[in-house]
Amino acid sequence: MNKLADDCFNQVKNLMSTAEALAVLRQRIVAVTQDRLERLPLAQAQGRILAEDLVSNLDVPPHDNSAVDGYALRHGDLKPDAPSRLAVAGRSAAGHPFTGHVEAGGTVRIFTGAVMPDGADTVVMQEDVERSGEHIVIPPGLKSGANRRRQGEDTEKGDVVLARGRRLRAQDLGLAASVGHGELTLYRPLKVGVFSTGDELVEPGADLPTGGIYDANRQILMALVGGLGAQVSDLGILPDEAAAVRQGLSDAAEAHDLLLTSGGVSVGDEDHVRGAVEALGHLHFWRLAIKPGRPLALGQVGATAFVGLPGNPVAATVCFLRFARPLILGLAGAVDLEPALYRVTADFDYEKKAGRREWLRARLEHQVDAGPRAVLFRPMGSGIINSLVQTHGLVEIAEDVTRIKAGEAVDFLPFDEVAS
Ligand code: AMP
Ligand code: MG
Repeated sequence: MNKLADDCFNQVKNLMSTAEALAVLRQRIVAVTQDRLERLPLAQAQGRILAEDLVSNLDVPPHDNSAVDGYALRHGDLKPDAPSRLAVAGRSAAGHPFTGHVEAGGTVRIFTGAVMPDGADTVVMQEDVERSGEHIVIPPGLKSGANRRRQGEDTEKGDVVLARGRRLRAQDLGLAASVGHGELTLYRPLKVGVFSTGDELVEPGADLPTGGIYDANRQILMALVGGLGAQVSDLGILPDEAAAVRQGLSDAAEAHDLLLTSGGVSVGDEDHVRGAVEALGHLHFWRLAIKPGRPLALGQVGATAFVGLPGNPVAATVCFLRFARPLILGLAGAVDLEPALYRVTADFDYEKKAGRREWLRARLEHQVDAGPRAVLFRPMGSGIINSLVQTHGLVEIAEDVTRIKAGEAVDFLPFDEVAS
């Protein structure tokens, strides 16, 4: 198995910006999934990562064809200033090409997607002609080449249509099909094990004792990891007990490329993840200048990557989306690791400390005469799961900004951009 270089998360710098942290991840992270490639039919490839440059076997469309239902003709036959009369000499339907040649003064009845008959160069829409018997009359003004789709206008034979490292979306599968590939060579899925930690946590559906809370993080994280095309294992809840945490992590390491935990990584007495990972490999707390989020714990259990996310569900989710997600995509072999941000208009005033990056949950409201307006969700606490549910994404505020006034432009990260 192709595992990580030893101690690849060792990071000396004391306080890192988000950009620095992402740059380090980009530099250090290598794909670990190249040891086994899979050939899979297109229907099983969505969300997976392409392990080859996919080359087109043909021109698409393979022939010039009609973009409309109408009549194929020779533009040179048309009078520029008066109606023209042409004789209908045949028919070309999708999948049933006309086999003859269009002679001067002739036209061929044609349907959308049908091959352009030999000799014809232009198509007139059926709505624009008058037909009487086996003739049509065409008003003047039709442009040469109108309504004709060119061979190869979408893809040319030999083009690389999808590059290695691409995470495959629905439309990518359609493109692969259109150029003749029924199967793709993919990296094997990254194997990710997800743990929760904490004695207070209870499986949803079970009775809740006094002091207990239901484990929400594991559902969020498993779904997010699965949405990235990885193979997720539900590894349950680790108790706040050093030996059990250590045993759980050590048992799981061999079978996974990455172990993901939430909770148990602050400095409280009940936070046992740190000691366990240190005993089994390396652990580094990356002190990131961010809110929400405690230090991000990154390390290795043996040669298996380890990420310890904060326990609070909002902090866990934000840290996952911004830091664990690119790490997972990189380990899995993807080339595009980071999401695009979009500019929206703040509907709020906000003040913050300089020097750290903040993420606020917000709903986007449509505005008729301007771009969308971001409305903050309150309360803003990092335990408020509803702040992730009743919103569309995260307003991301850069380190140097200290105040935002309503009406200003802010960066927005839509959940739809990163939650799959
Ligand atoms: P910790 O980092 O373990 O001290 O956890 C910080 C906060 O997050 C505490 O209030 C925990 O109860 C809460 N928390 C930790 N893990 C989870 C989880 N899996 N689901 C919901 N809340 C959690
Ligand atoms: Mg805890």
